[in-house]
Amino acid sequence: MIKPDAVADGNTGAIIKMIEEAGFRIVAMKKVKLSAETAGKFYEVHAERPFYGELCAYMSSGAIVPMILEKDNAVEDFRKLIGATNPANAEEGTIRKLYAKSIGANAIHGSDSDENAGIEGSFFFAGTEQF
Ligand code: GDP
Repeated sequence: MIKPDAVADGNTGAIIKMIEEAGFRIVAMKKVKLSAETAGKFYEVHAERPFYGELCAYMSSGAIVPMILEKDNAVEDFRKLIGATNPANAEEGTIRKLYAKSIGANAIHGSDSDENAGIEGSFFFAGTEQF
């Protein structure tokens, strides 16, 4: 999911290019703006964390681009491609190093397990045909 800061800065295309060049196939993609309530549901696992309110406000502050991606070893390889949560700690050449502004406005989200990738994909694309 490309986050509001990266979409607003016009970095959607550059980030998609990096994703495709890294060997991921885009199975589904759209551009949407979440309400704070819907963002809150997406990040429900973080509800007890101190930054939850800030995270929900930020994630509903502008358009995002969720995608379902496919690749062997996708979860691990995508997390390598996006880099550390805090861009200050992200490796050179990663999406967050190139495009993130801060630990909150960090340009992109990647699922942390195959199970969560299924849950998060359904969150945005349930009922749609994938090809
Ligand atoms: P990720 O898996 O690398 O995205 O990191 P986490 O699962 O730990 O956190 C989820 C998201 O919450 C991050 O991508 C950030 O957008 C946000 N986040 C994490 N830590 C902080 C923080 O200390 N402050 C704020 N504002 N947001 C944070």
